[in-house]
Amino acid sequence: MPILTPEQIGYLSKLMDARFDREIEEIRAVRERVRDEREEAVPADWLDVALAETTLATDDAVINQDLADVRDIISARERRAAGTYGICTDCGDSIAYERLLAYPTAKRCIHCQRLYEQSKAVREILRAS
Ligand SMILES: [Zn+2]
Repeated sequence: MPILTPEQIGYLSKLMDARFDREIEEIRAVRERVRDEREEAVPADWLDVALAETTLATDDAVINQDLADVRDIISARERRAAGTYGICTDCGDSIAYERLLAYPTAKRCIHCQRLYEQSKAVREILRAS
């Protein structure tokens, strides 16, 4: 498989930069909303308390996903700086450009990603049993 051209890397970097800015913006927005709600909200009864907690839990899930994305982008930038961006961390083969267009932060080729997910599923089954 051909190695990425500088133009392809540049385009993928732009995709990641745009995503990075969006995630940071979303994290900031959620944090501000939660802070506002905490300051305003003096729950009148248990239903309000339950609703407030649900909202916070949802926001946590959103924030955690955003933070995971941000971390993925940061580590993709590090790989780019190291010249290993677009190279599978497991087998050392190039990652297909089409895959990177869909997942610019992908660190494994599709083959290794499948193996990784299968072994992860097996580990989870073993842990649950
Ligand atoms: Zn691989």
